Amino acid sequence: MNPFFNISERIENADKIALNLCSEQFQLIDEITEYNQLKVQKAFIDNGISESHFVSSTGYGYGDRGRETLDKVWAQVFGAEDALVRHNFTCGTHTLATALFGVLRPNDKMLCVTGTPYDTIHNVIGISGEGMGSLKEFGIEYDEIPLKNDRLDYEAIEIAVDSSVTMVYIQRSRGYELRPSLSIAEIEKVCKIAKAKNPDVIVMVDNCYGEFVEKLEPTEVGTDLIAGSLIKNAGGGIATTGGYIAGKHKLVEKCAYRLTTPGLGKEVGATLNMNRELYMGLFYAPHTVGEAVKSAVYISALFEHFGYSVTPKYNEIRHDIVQSIGLENPESLVAFCQGIQSGSPIDSFVLPEPWDMPGYDSKVVMAAGAFTLGSSIELSADAPIREPYYAWIQGGLNFHSAKICAKLAAQKMEDKGLLK
Ligand SMILES: *Cc1c(COP(=O)(O)O)cnc(C)c1O
Repeated sequence: MNPFFNISERIENADKIALNLCSEQFQLIDEITEYNQLKVQKAFIDNGISESHFVSSTGYGYGDRGRETLDKVWAQVFGAEDALVRHNFTCGTHTLATALFGVLRPNDKMLCVTGTPYDTIHNVIGISGEGMGSLKEFGIEYDEIPLKNDRLDYEAIEIAVDSSVTMVYIQRSRGYELRPSLSIAEIEKVCKIAKAKNPDVIVMVDNCYGEFVEKLEPTEVGTDLIAGSLIKNAGGGIATTGGYIAGKHKLVEKCAYRLTTPGLGKEVGATLNMNRELYMGLFYAPHTVGEAVKSAVYISALFEHFGYSVTPKYNEIRHDIVQSIGLENPESLVAFCQGIQSGSPIDSFVLPEPWDMPGYDSKVVMAAGAFTLGSSIELSADAPIREPYYAWIQGGLNFHSAKICAKLAAQKMEDKGLLK
């Protein structure tokens, strides 16, 4: 009997079976976590990080050592020439948009090779929306190569990357789709193919949800520029806002000119007491990501045991922290999300209900009880109420906390007579 939560015997038994199934993956995850932790730790040591790097600046923020050194630590960890890590980035979309506007110029061409990108990037590119100042409105051409059977179409990429293409754009994570996320090996292959056809092409990766899931990052295998959010993997659950860009020095510099202003770039930017949490977030990130990946693997094993289709499966190698579960009907989606929410440390008393959301064509039900609003390195679940009735789950600051939430989700479904 669980002393704190009411969990049925059937679910407690399933929990044991699921945990057993996970053991091999957990060993692999531990090995990756340790490798990445040492990588981060070495970068802190090599850069001589001390308490003085946490000192805050105000006003212009000239000569903020903490800010300047954080960029260096970040660059070392990501095997990049340079990095731009700032709390001023409001979200992942803002960071990606800064990178795109930073390096692309009128008449340049951006080619996305992973099908249509993440929803929030559509307005940035100009695939949708008008009068908002998209890349398209500034004369930047866009094209995309659809995935072929959910995988990269290398032949089409080889044909499409000619001298007219300025940037090859890759989305590493599945985002809110059911396609598999990309491995670092697949990203490396795209870099090789693209550079062979056009040595000047810039390969950029949307690295959201991917950081520290593997031992290598895209910048270590030929990618020129990556960007991501600090309230996902790379902030370790500690950073309360922000984003990062890393890559070739010349490109990162251009991004800095876009974030602040031409001529000033990285020289300005008061850190307003954020340095300590950004350092600590990076320090925690490998471990937190490991916990999140374990949580995803466990939830996958548990719900597969109950007979639901899951992707990825518990024994598949992970390339991001996202888990999808096919829950088969609207009632189960709602019960699942309510169960997850009921175990959250924050807002456990809130009852999620399906609601109309801007930008969605169906109602959406969401569970999130997070220390940082909207943080998706903390356990959260989102489910559009439409076929095929999948829930997308990501995050988990620590495995044990996510595990009880998963069991409570199953329990809520069982209480309503919905659990298969
Ligand atoms: C989350 C995410 C984004 C956008 O980040 P926001 O912080 O939500 O703006 C972009 N691409 C991918 C793959 C993501 O997962």
